[in-house]
Amino acid sequence: MVNHRFKKGEDYASKLDLEDPLAKFRARFYVPEETIYVDGNSLGLLSSDSEKSVLRVLNEWKTLGIKGWLNAKPPWFYFAEELGAMCARLVGAEAAEVVATGTTTVNIHSLVNTFYQPRGKKTKVLADELTFPTDIYALRSVVRLRGMNPRRDLVLASSTENRFLNEDQITEMMTENIALVFLPSVLYRSGQLLDIQQLTKEAHERGIPIGFDCSHSVGVVPHHFDKWDVDFAIWCSYKYLNGGPGGTAFVYVNKDYFDREPALAGWFGYVKEKQFDLNIDFESAKSAGGWQISSPPILSSAPLEGSLRIILEAGIDAIREKSLKLTSFLIYLVDSLLSKNPYNFSIGTPREHKRRGGHVAVEHTEGMRISEALRAKGIVSDFRPPNVIRIAPIPLYNTFHEVWEITQHLKTTIDSKEYRRFPKKRREIP
Ligand SMILES: *Cc1c(COP(=O)(O)O)cnc(C)c1O
Repeated sequence: MVNHRFKKGEDYASKLDLEDPLAKFRARFYVPEETIYVDGNSLGLLSSDSEKSVLRVLNEWKTLGIKGWLNAKPPWFYFAEELGAMCARLVGAEAAEVVATGTTTVNIHSLVNTFYQPRGKKTKVLADELTFPTDIYALRSVVRLRGMNPRRDLVLASSTENRFLNEDQITEMMTENIALVFLPSVLYRSGQLLDIQQLTKEAHERGIPIGFDCSHSVGVVPHHFDKWDVDFAIWCSYKYLNGGPGGTAFVYVNKDYFDREPALAGWFGYVKEKQFDLNIDFESAKSAGGWQISSPPILSSAPLEGSLRIILEAGIDAIREKSLKLTSFLIYLVDSLLSKNPYNFSIGTPREHKRRGGHVAVEHTEGMRISEALRAKGIVSDFRPPNVIRIAPIPLYNTFHEVWEITQHLKTTIDSKEYRRFPKKRREIP
């Protein structure tokens, strides 16, 4: 990966946009008017491609009724597998190893229950204290439902400065008591990207299965699940995949486990050709599709057809390259314009390319009120306590000029002390 050398001026930012091979994709997204939208790591924007695929599915429902299950294009009956095959190309997996199904937290329950097989002294799940809380809630409840004690059997790797995890330290915790490791790919607050390949290798050397929550990385960081030999992974579709609010999520199951019985069985996980025999003995599909539970939510899967098509067209490597350039430019501008008195912004994201995902944590003790002041100026970023303004310039629809503008706004917010007008109380949905 090239090391970037930047300049500070507005002209220079515009020049980067002119040279940007992905610039043309912005026209396919609905960017809210008078807004700089850098919150695509929480909810990606709608594209005209997704709008078309949703309208097509609505029309199929309108005109075909139940016949849509086989006569829609593609047939709804195979839609989850089709979307899985498209997404598989983003994560270095075979088509059969990925399926669009369920929602992230439910998929954690389903996959962790499948891979967590406590026996003898091996009873513990190893996770970390910086992961997104829903992952911890789910892990605790799995451990409890399996008759174990979450206080004893869920162990959390601790962090440095509440920001970073250390792979070597996590590895040291992979002891003989650990039955399963479950970790995030990118930390939702600091944006640190963990070394999935190294962690997988270390876990396997100790005979421990390992899974990852890649909600914060799929669509912006290339993954090579097969090459890395990851056992399973889950991720949501509404962040960098632009699949729409609460859209259908994804699971990856390494083909080595296709024979394993899914812990949460349901009729859509049945062997496809025989599902409608409606036999009461369950026989799971020998693919990730076996981990489906219910009828696929066709309407909340439909946007993915359009949005995955765009990502595949742009290419995940080109997306990653631009993402790193955008975030490096942001880091450079914050460092050179905003790090000293009276601005005092700092970067809470690792600077090495291979250690960061798609967003930058810009830290400030007044982060919450500054984030509100930015929103009032039409800049949609978000705030995560205690002091992190998360800024995610999205390669498919943000520009270098927008990154430049954001840093100018950060500067004037402090110069004019505007942020002091905003209450110190956090809003319900930051
Ligand atoms: C976004 C995200 C989720 C979201 O869970 P839902 O069940 O889709 O609400 C879970 N885990 C991580 C790490 C996330 O980033």
